[in-house]
Amino acid sequence: MACIFCEIIAKRQPADVVYEDDDILVFKDINPTAPIHVLLVPKAHVATVNDVDEAQHVGLMGRLFVVAKKLAAQWDIVGQGYRLTVNVGRGGGQIVDHVHMHLVSGRHR
Ligand code: 5GP
Ligand code: ZN
Repeated sequence: MACIFCEIIAKRQPADVVYEDDDILVFKDINPTAPIHVLLVPKAHVATVNDVDEAQHVGLMGRLFVVAKKLAAQWDIVGQGYRLTVNVGRGGGQIVDHVHMHLVSGRHR
């Protein structure tokens, strides 16, 4: 079966998209844990952080942070703060094997 995030990126599966550029898609988490909970997903399929390649992916992974901070500014949550999380492997809480960064805000842990 195809990767669910690749299906969303290809627009074969629906998602509530909040940002898109050539390299990154951001959409709302289907099961949010806070008022703001989105997933920043590189369009290239990289399964986990363990598969990040120094020659290929460094710029792409860096851009996730740039998009995250721009969205935080746009949504006016810079003051209240937010959490960026990348889960790695089953023991690290990763369910979907396509690298993604959670941006979560609006709830105390
Ligand atoms: P992980 O645990 O792998 O870091 O996070 C995967 C996240 O993807 C979970 O928070 C889960 O709710 C979300 N998710 C899983 N499948 C879908 C989907 O089909 N659509 C959306 N929008 N989110 C999904
Ligand atoms: Zn994928």
